[in-house]
Amino acid sequence: MVTRDNRKVVLVGTGMVGMSYAYALLNQGACDELVLIDVNRQRAEGEAMDLNHGLAFAPTSMKIYAGSYDDCTDADIVVICAGVAQKPGESRRDLLSRNAAVFRSIVEPVVRSGFNGIFLVATNPVDIMTRITCALSGFNPRRVIGSGTVLDTARLRFLLGDFFTVDSRNVHAYVIGEHGDSEFVPWSQAMLATRPVLALCEEDGGDCCECDLRRIESNVRDAAQQIIKAKNATYYGIGMSLVRITKAILGDENSVLTVSAMLHGEYGESGVYVGVPCIVNRNGIRRVHTMALTDEEQAQFHASCEVLRDVYAEIEL
Ligand code: NAD
Repeated sequence: MVTRDNRKVVLVGTGMVGMSYAYALLNQGACDELVLIDVNRQRAEGEAMDLNHGLAFAPTSMKIYAGSYDDCTDADIVVICAGVAQKPGESRRDLLSRNAAVFRSIVEPVVRSGFNGIFLVATNPVDIMTRITCALSGFNPRRVIGSGTVLDTARLRFLLGDFFTVDSRNVHAYVIGEHGDSEFVPWSQAMLATRPVLALCEEDGGDCCECDLRRIESNVRDAAQQIIKAKNATYYGIGMSLVRITKAILGDENSVLTVSAMLHGEYGESGVYVGVPCIVNRNGIRRVHTMALTDEEQAQFHASCEVLRDVYAEIEL
């Protein structure tokens, strides 16, 4: 499946998110060949030219060009960041139907090309669009991955690292559930190196620390809205999150990442794509890494899955 000598990524959707991903890929030398596809062909061509002009300063060489769906034939990963924005007054349901149509126009030609790699989806609502990609492609769900709560988890680790004045890479805490309003932090599973965060809070006097944790959780949930208010869109964080997932796949890393995965009985849920810690390698999702949630966390997770089931039920594919 993933060829080690030529790591090839096809990016569909060269907007702000897609190009932040492409720029981060180039700066990290994370693949050998990058194909850019957009319904606006001229835009994809301009972006390819612009990136190529940075190659002289990149860590490794990379073949970058604007291409077509035929280029997916031997790709390792097809990353979808394409989408249409909500029109004023448009309902969520109508927006979803339009984005489902966009995905049909993408996934079908990708599959027709003979593509046999992994789909990685970032378009929102990401859990729903990933499930749509899985349904349209007919691929094994283990090879269709959404960015899920990888970015939300990165935001959480940053804020917790800041709060405890500890390198965020030593914070092991996750945001799980829908990438959206019903996402949450299972605090019972949050660790600072080898110490549970809740135990650290107790040592610290209890109450106050726990309200700080609630504030941090709500800041994570509201982060996208805050950024959108300030600069209209978010793209660098998600671009780097997508590179992290790409590296886990191409490097066969078996890394634990909170991607959006189809559940098959894990946490008592089935048939829904949702953000949960998963072991990711060159075959996609090797398996869902289940956590021992408390009853309250389990109920919150179930509620989040129900939100996603209700939204998916609104779509006509
Ligand atoms: P954008 O409008 O800048 O880019 C979208 C691109 O998709 C455009 O270049 C457009 O031409 C292209 N496109 C539209 N229809 C297409 C089609 N049929 N085929 C090929 N390309 C097509 O938007 P953006 O800011 O880059 O955001 C893209 C998506 O990423 C949005 O859905 C956004 O909500 C989502 N997003 C996700 C996360 C996350 O955590 N998963 C974070 C931020 C943004």
